[in-house]
Amino acid sequence: AQERYASIRQEPAQTLCGKTVALHMNAGLMADLPSLDSSGAEGVGLFRTELQFLVRNQMPRRSELSALYARVLDASNGKRVVFRTLDIGSDKVLPYMKPQEEPNPALGWRAIRVGLDKPGVMRMQLQALIRAAGGRPLTIMFPFVAQYEEYKAAKAEMDKALERERILGHATPETLEIGAMLETPSLAFAPDRFYEEVDFLSIGGNDLKQFFFAADRENERVRRRYDTLNVSFLTFLENIVKRCDASNTSLSFCGEDAGRPVEAACFAAMGFRMLSMRPASIGPVKHMLRRLNLEELRAVIEQAREEGHQSVRPAVMDYLRSAT
Ligand code: PEP
Ligand code: MG
Repeated sequence: AQERYASIRQEPAQTLCGKTVALHMNAGLMADLPSLDSSGAEGVGLFRTELQFLVRNQMPRRSELSALYARVLDASNGKRVVFRTLDIGSDKVLPYMKPQEEPNPALGWRAIRVGLDKPGVMRMQLQALIRAAGGRPLTIMFPFVAQYEEYKAAKAEMDKALERERILGHATPETLEIGAMLETPSLAFAPDRFYEEVDFLSIGGNDLKQFFFAADRENERVRRRYDTLNVSFLTFLENIVKRCDASNTSLSFCGEDAGRPVEAACFAAMGFRMLSMRPASIGPVKHMLRRLNLEELRAVIEQAREEGHQSVRPAVMDYLRSAT
C-alpha cells in the first residue's frame, strides 16, 4: 500500500485551496522509526512510551529508557518527536504494579493522575528523556490532562527535573516544548490562561470520543454507535480550534480517526493543520487532502449542520464522490 503513494511521499499535504496540513506519525517502538522516511511523515506526533513498561516483569531502569529514547531521537534525524509520558491504568496495566480494584478503570486512576500521585516513575522518565536529548530539542506531552492544575503540576515536575540535571552537570534541551493531550471534554473549557501557557495541545480522539458520548471504546456494543462526524462532536472540535487560534496554541489530532481519510478531510475543513496517525495512513490521507478544497467541504459541513442532520457523513461522502 505504501508503494501506491510513493509518488507523493515527498510532496506536502497541500489542498487545492492552498492550505498545508502537517502529517505526523504515531509510534511506540524503535522498530517504527524507519517508517518516518518510508511514509513521508514530518515527525512523530505521538510516541507512546507504555510498551517499554508493559513488556517486562519489572520496572525498566532509567539508563535503559534513556538509551532507547536517545536512539529514537537519533533515528528521527532532527524531525520532531513528541514523547508522551507513561499512560497506564484503564486498559494498560503494568504486570509489576499492584492491580487497582476499580469499578470504572477508564474513569479511574490512570495516566497523569498516577504520575502526579506517585511521581517516582514520572520523575525517572522525565530524567531519562532529558538525558536522551543530551542538549537536542525535546518535546514532551502529558496524557489525560483534565484540568489546568494537572498541567501546572506536571510542568513543575519537569522544571524540577531540569534543575536537577543542570546541577548534576548534564546538558539541558536546546528547546523544550511541553504539551498536553486533550482527552476529556473538561480541558476544552479550561481557563484562557491554560491555553496561553501550554506549548501545544493534541487531541486524543479515542479517549475524547468515549467521554464525549459516554461510550466505552472497549465495548463492541457501543463503540461504533456514535459517528465521529456527528454534528455535536464536530462542533465541539471546532470550538477547540477557535480557542487555540485565539491563543496561538499549536493544535493537532492524534487519535485513530486522524488516519481515516474522510475524517481527516473534515478535521482539516474544521481548521486542523496537524494530524498524527499510523504510518500506513499517511499516504491515503495525503492523497485525499491534495484533492480537496477545504472551503467547499466546510460549506458542505455547515449546510448539513444547518439542516439538522445528526452526522455530516452522508453529505460529506456525496460531496467527496462528486468533487474528488
Ligand atoms: C487517544 O486517546 O486518542 C490516544 C491517542 O491515546 P491512546 O489511544 O493511547 O489512549
Ligand atoms: Mg488516550
